[in-house]
Amino acid sequence: MATATLGMIGLGRMGRPMAERLVAAGHRVVGYDRAGTAERLPAGATAAASAVEVAATAEVVFLSLPDGTASRTVCAEIAAAPARRAHTVVDLSTIGPTAARACAETLAAARVRYVDAPVSGGVRGAEQGTLTVMVGAPAELFAAVEPWLAVLGRHRVRVGDAPGQGQAMKLLNNYLSALALAATSEAVAFGARHGLDPALVIDVLNVSTGRTSASADKFPRCVLPRTYDYGFAGALMAKDIALYHEAAEAVGAPRELATPLHQLWQRFRAAHPDADCTYIAAYIAESAP
Ligand code: NAD
Repeated sequence: MATATLGMIGLGRMGRPMAERLVAAGHRVVGYDRAGTAERLPAGATAAASAVEVAATAEVVFLSLPDGTASRTVCAEIAAAPARRAHTVVDLSTIGPTAARACAETLAAARVRYVDAPVSGGVRGAEQGTLTVMVGAPAELFAAVEPWLAVLGRHRVRVGDAPGQGQAMKLLNNYLSALALAATSEAVAFGARHGLDPALVIDVLNVSTGRTSASADKFPRCVLPRTYDYGFAGALMAKDIALYHEAAEAVGAPRELATPLHQLWQRFRAAHPDADCTYIAAYIAESAP
């Protein structure tokens, strides 16, 4: 493990700090980002000019890409790379079960192993190495990559053998996270219409049974001070809920709350395509006449 060269493709809000941690842990890291590698690359890492060059340089390639289309494109590039050194791809992106299975198949045909390993914990978790990593992979493959995942995540949980099962776990987590953010926003708006101070409402919720991940963290840190800078784009949250809804539909899972939640996040993304996910609190507060 100590001698491997690691790749990181996608050096965005999550990929950059994760690459930085791998460098700080003493690994050789080669990075690439389609939008510009030089300005995103952490100190100590080496820039590559393409995913193909990363695959030619690194034995283990991590992906932190926005969606399934990007992961599928990059996995196809790695599979087709001439003079490939990469034997394992660890996909940390949230892309849904269907795309994860497709990536695994594309890479398997080129004898490259695929680890479905989406993460939870936000930019702060990526910076501090406190992410939760949800892995869908056979035990032996999980054991092979766990020492690197330990640099990135405090909790590394193998939830199943098959690629796509990590994604299922991640999507259901984000479904609850998005539901909590929307419901807490609606409840705080309700309180405000009854003359309650939003900061006091959050304080009381946090010592009561209505406490959520939104009341505990997103509201005090990003919504009440109106900074809306949690670091997770509303468009990415809308993508995750769309993936959840689609994956629920595919297996006939209940969608009583998922359908209206999905529609709400789609409307929010259309109205504020570049906003942080926490800005949905302002959107909901202003939505009623
Ligand atoms: P981001 O948009 O900040 O970063 C993604 C990066 O990938 C961008 O810099 C983009 O230029 C690059 N990219 C896109 N297509 C590429 C390609 N074909 N080749 C090379 N680079 C490419 O997104 P993010 O917030 O860092 O999220 C990355 C993934 O992690 C997403 O799947 C997201 O859902 C997931 N995630 C994000 C958070 C968060 O809080 N931001 C938390 C958990 C999981």
